[in-house]
Amino acid sequence: MSSTNTKLTFWGVRGSTPTVDRSTWRYGGNTPCLELQAPDGTRFILDTGTGLRSLGRHYADTLGDAPLDAFVLVTHYHWDHIQGLPFFTPFVSPQNRFHFYSFQSKYLGKDSLKRVMQTQMAMPYFPVDLSVFQCERDYTEIGGGDKLDVRGTRISTKWLNHPQGCLGFRFETPAGVIVYATDNEPGVPDMDKDLRDLAAGADIYIHDAQYTPEQLAADHKGWGHSSWEEGVRVAKEANVRNLVLFHHDPDSSDRRVDAILRQTRQQFANAWAASEGMVMTLEDQKMDVVMRDSRAGQRREGFFRATIVGYTEEGRAFEEETIIRDLSLHGALLYLDNLPRLQSELQVLMEAPMDDLHPDGRIPLRGFVIRREHPPGEQRHAVGIVFAEEVDPERVGG
Ligand SMILES: [Zn+2]
Ligand SMILES: [Zn+2]
Repeated sequence: MSSTNTKLTFWGVRGSTPTVDRSTWRYGGNTPCLELQAPDGTRFILDTGTGLRSLGRHYADTLGDAPLDAFVLVTHYHWDHIQGLPFFTPFVSPQNRFHFYSFQSKYLGKDSLKRVMQTQMAMPYFPVDLSVFQCERDYTEIGGGDKLDVRGTRISTKWLNHPQGCLGFRFETPAGVIVYATDNEPGVPDMDKDLRDLAAGADIYIHDAQYTPEQLAADHKGWGHSSWEEGVRVAKEANVRNLVLFHHDPDSSDRRVDAILRQTRQQFANAWAASEGMVMTLEDQKMDVVMRDSRAGQRREGFFRATIVGYTEEGRAFEEETIIRDLSLHGALLYLDNLPRLQSELQVLMEAPMDDLHPDGRIPLRGFVIRREHPPGEQRHAVGIVFAEEVDPERVGG
């Protein structure tokens, strides 16, 4: 399949260990896995964390019986980047072909990635062994500073500053440049410079933003991670167009990630917080972002008057009256004249019967913009929001 765009899909965005806590659902709990699809249709899978399982299911749903051929690039061998491997069902099928790229670890020796897979599926850790994987596969060992050309996409690599080593990747596709640099701690001058070289002028720069600047300076020094503030620094110095905060800490609730993104955008406007199911498309020097619709549960059509307060794409504050016509426990669909920014917060004041609970006749809710559409024949923007949790988990118990 050939097109003119490069499409990047986030299947896992969480660092260190998967989370299932309710307070992390909006951004998602699976560990790193991205799919990059070049304009000629070539598929690159970046890291094989638990998000890989969902990508496998997606392939089963969309490709059916068509053979799959993909390049799998693994940044390093920490659990959160390899744990999805045994659960990727396309490995089972003999018609599929995978080309693996990773580095030779001094702890694992030759064929490091193959050993990782064998060990993961060895007794008594896993019920079946590697022989269930009938797919064709080849392994290539690469290191920092290497350059590869894969079907029209130029890939270059740099070592990142991370315990036991980690590779950062730069993908130059005909539709734009994507740099994936997760699991990196700043502070080693040569490597800080390498990172800026790798990221130079990127359309999309994916940055490890696991810790707050305070954590990074104090108790998490030496753990091999970075912060949003450092991401802003790299983004500005390397002149990137879009900064994506990635590898969210397992203890970061959605609200904490919201706050991190807000702070980041004050210093670098084109910033995004990686979220599971998010798709970034590059085409004709433009980037488009779409979020997964994470509104679960029963939807109810209705007629609820509401006042919406938020910020537009350009950062202008607005207040607008509207009617909510589609509501669920998790979110709503609004029609607005103003176009609020993706991943920005809206205050929703829904009309309610005036009573002791709602003395001003309004129910105040906080919503996050996850989709924006322009339905044919509709003058206004259709804006999908998800509601934030009522209770701030960080404030529970004082
Ligand atoms: Zn990691
Ligand atoms: Zn790591």
